[in-house]
Amino acid sequence: MAGPKPKRAVLTGVPASPGYAIGPAYLLHPEERVVKKRVIPPEKAEQEVARLKRALEKAHKEILGVKTRISGDVGEYEARIFDTHMMMLQDSEIVDVVIKDIRDHHYNAEYAYSDRINALAEKFESLSGGFLKDHMSDLRDVGTRVIDILMLSENNLSYLDVPEPVIVMSRNLTPSVLSQFNRKNTLGLTTEVGGKTSHVSILARSLEIPAVSGVSWQGVDLEPGQTVIVDGTMGLVIINPTLRDIKEYEVKKAAFFANQSELSTLRDLEPVTTDGKYIELSANIELPIEVETVLQYGADSVGLYRSEFLFLTREDMPSEEEQYQAYKYMGERMSPRAVTIRTMDAGGDKLVPALKMAGELNPYMGWRSIRVCLDNREIFKIQLRAVLRASAFSNIRLMFPMISNLWEIRETKKILDEVRKELDGAGTAYNPRMEIGCMIEVPSAVVMADEIAREVDFFSIGTNDLIQFTLAVDRANERIAELFEPNSPAVWRQIKRVIEVSRVHGIQVCVCGEMAGDPLAAIVLIGMGIDELSMGPGMLLEMKKLIRSVSFEEARALSESVLRLITANEITELLRSRYVAKLAALGISKFPVTRAPG
Ligand code: PEP
Ligand code: MG
Repeated sequence: MAGPKPKRAVLTGVPASPGYAIGPAYLLHPEERVVKKRVIPPEKAEQEVARLKRALEKAHKEILGVKTRISGDVGEYEARIFDTHMMMLQDSEIVDVVIKDIRDHHYNAEYAYSDRINALAEKFESLSGGFLKDHMSDLRDVGTRVIDILMLSENNLSYLDVPEPVIVMSRNLTPSVLSQFNRKNTLGLTTEVGGKTSHVSILARSLEIPAVSGVSWQGVDLEPGQTVIVDGTMGLVIINPTLRDIKEYEVKKAAFFANQSELSTLRDLEPVTTDGKYIELSANIELPIEVETVLQYGADSVGLYRSEFLFLTREDMPSEEEQYQAYKYMGERMSPRAVTIRTMDAGGDKLVPALKMAGELNPYMGWRSIRVCLDNREIFKIQLRAVLRASAFSNIRLMFPMISNLWEIRETKKILDEVRKELDGAGTAYNPRMEIGCMIEVPSAVVMADEIAREVDFFSIGTNDLIQFTLAVDRANERIAELFEPNSPAVWRQIKRVIEVSRVHGIQVCVCGEMAGDPLAAIVLIGMGIDELSMGPGMLLEMKKLIRSVSFEEARALSESVLRLITANEITELLRSRYVAKLAALGISKFPVTRAPG
């Protein structure tokens, strides 16, 4: 006889990537994962031991983070349980045996670890009492965490071979792991951790996977394979939907796709306002292959290629030749249109395994981005050489991230000059006039924009980081997602200033942060005089439709009104009252950054 019907549950999270998906749940969680036993080559045993030790260190940092949070929210006493977890991580009865198993039997680390946890669990289950018996669930929890980290480590793809179309439900998914998913079989995605501008959400939008973040299915009646609906537009997840839910969402999904195909008729039209101002529309991409989608959507250029994704999914560094081939491929496919290659922006939520980047307590403000490149000049020079060589064949622009002072951009240009000289010496071709740009995403760079503008050919405003640094709101923290406020007057005034400085110096200015793809924000940006908007490919056609329906004059007047307002709520209200009805009439339904209209 069939068991009781699983209970319907509606979970609310952060709308991370628009669209709708219906399918079976795939719980990316070690309890449901099969830990496969592998025998590794004996000479790789020490590497495997090192991988285990890194995972244990990472688990320690994670637990410490949770402990701090619980101490603050609930109390010191309740948080003490995490001391036990940390002790278990170091317990020689576990660690020494696992290391011995790896060395003697050449087992993979996750198998050796899970085997040890299972053996201990069995042993203590049969006892009548005692410390470990009382802490069985803690032991399992620690085991789960370590195995989770090991299985999500960059070179372990075994569990990513999802054989059929599913809704992936994850705890803490890294951008590098998501970039390796089989796109065709990933219908939708939910994550427990992350906000709208965390890189997993950005990547989900780029890959056009409907996604909701900040969703936990703990305590919900959910088994692998049960049906789930992901509503990435509104930020809802429905577990065990009713037939009525499914019908309703089938209709929404069909309307979404119909809208997409209607939009495709705009592909070859120009992004010009009704009074004739051309706004360059470009795409942000994370993977070279995405240029095919960019071409399909008729973008003017690639405004941001996040090159660090080449470095995230492997234990070693990509060689100069590998990088050169990737850059050349994008340049040639897009030619004569430009491809803006941003140098490796590692750190934050994008850890590069080969750099052994430890999880930091404050990673977004830590050893990140241009700082890492300036500290690793040989690695940096390899990337610059590859970009310069690719520039010989197509329209490639080079851009530097997270510049926070004049010295950094000058030092970076010095290194670029050294590389140019080396290429000259070797008789290697490159474009000597390749444009050089700088991201403006740190408030100190806004203050110093006038001086920085003298050093570069273009500016690209990274609003994701600019907002987090201006408002001191971690962009990847779902607990404070509501505080991540693009409409803060402090943000708008900085953007206006950067555009003005660009005008004075006669250099091009783009916005490549997520605000560029937000219809309401984009009208204001256009009114402020932005030259180029660069966004996830999925937003390009709707944005073109919007641009073709507004006049520059109207946008300019709107931007002036925005600059006169002094609170984020007033600005949001103004934009909604003027434009939400118009957007609905145009069939523009994606609101990736500002809160969904209510
Ligand atoms: C930004 O910060 O706005 C940006 C475009 O860069 P990233 O999102 O990769 O940090
Ligand atoms: Mg940034």
